[in-house]
Amino acid sequence: MKPDYLIVGSGLSALVFGALMANSGKTVQILEAHEHPGGFGHTFTMAKKYTFNAQFHYVWDCGEGQLVNRVLKKLGLEKEVTFERYDPNGFDHMRMPGYALDIPSDPEELIRRLSRLFPAASDRIRQFINDVEKTGAGLKRLAPPVKPMELLKHTREVACAVQYLNSTLQDVFDKFQLPQAAQTLLALQWLDFFAAPQSTFILCLGCII
Ligand SMILES: Cc1cc2nc3c(=O)[nH]c(=O)nc-3n(C[C@H](O)[C@H](O)[C@H](O)COP(=O)(O)OP(=O)(O)OC[C@H]3O[C@@H](n4cnc5c(N)ncnc54)[C@H](O)[C@@H]3O)c2cc1C
Repeated sequence: MKPDYLIVGSGLSALVFGALMANSGKTVQILEAHEHPGGFGHTFTMAKKYTFNAQFHYVWDCGEGQLVNRVLKKLGLEKEVTFERYDPNGFDHMRMPGYALDIPSDPEELIRRLSRLFPAASDRIRQFINDVEKTGAGLKRLAPPVKPMELLKHTREVACAVQYLNSTLQDVFDKFQLPQAAQTLLALQWLDFFAAPQSTFILCLGCII
């Protein structure tokens, strides 16, 4: 039988779309080239004892009412799929010679910690982090379904996201003239996985903050 949707690849996006369509009564067929389904999100076991995830180490937007939670609710899976919160005081630990930075959930605290490390650049650090935060908030308003009222209510954030449409992380580092060591600490955290700052689009970062 011909399915309503034929999906190539079984990564997260395919699985979410396929699950939502199947849940709404459509038929879905997924073609996967790899031996495990799930794309970068797949899990595998070693020594019959340890379970690893291929890439994921954190999932954003999974709190009550947020995107992941809403999708899980639509699928009736919100009780089955649960999340543990990382330490908000330092969910990532950045280390390099001479510098140590634990990344906190609160952007104000991140600004404080970075400013302690780079006091001469504290104003620029604040402006940089504020712009990354605004870009993330703007992107959320620009993601479908776009609600015109929301765009109007959040014009500053939306304008900020649009302003950085073609900017790489390196462009934004340069704009705020962040010290090289600060760039290194932040690029460890705000990277487009495996990509260098000059090829990481700042809008990708907006998606993950
Ligand atoms: C090191 C690393 C760490 C990451 N950590 C996180 C994280 O902590 N949190 C987070 O949210 N995101 C993280 N990401 C990003 C996340 O993995 C991706 O955004 C997400 O997996 C993209 O999902 P996708 O469905 O677009 O594609 P993918 O997950 O890439 O899936 C694509 C699938 O399509 C299959 N495929 C490709 N071509 C064909 C073909 N011709 N025929 C059949 N099948 C095909 C592939 O085998 C694969 O299974 C990380 C990425 C990396 C690389």
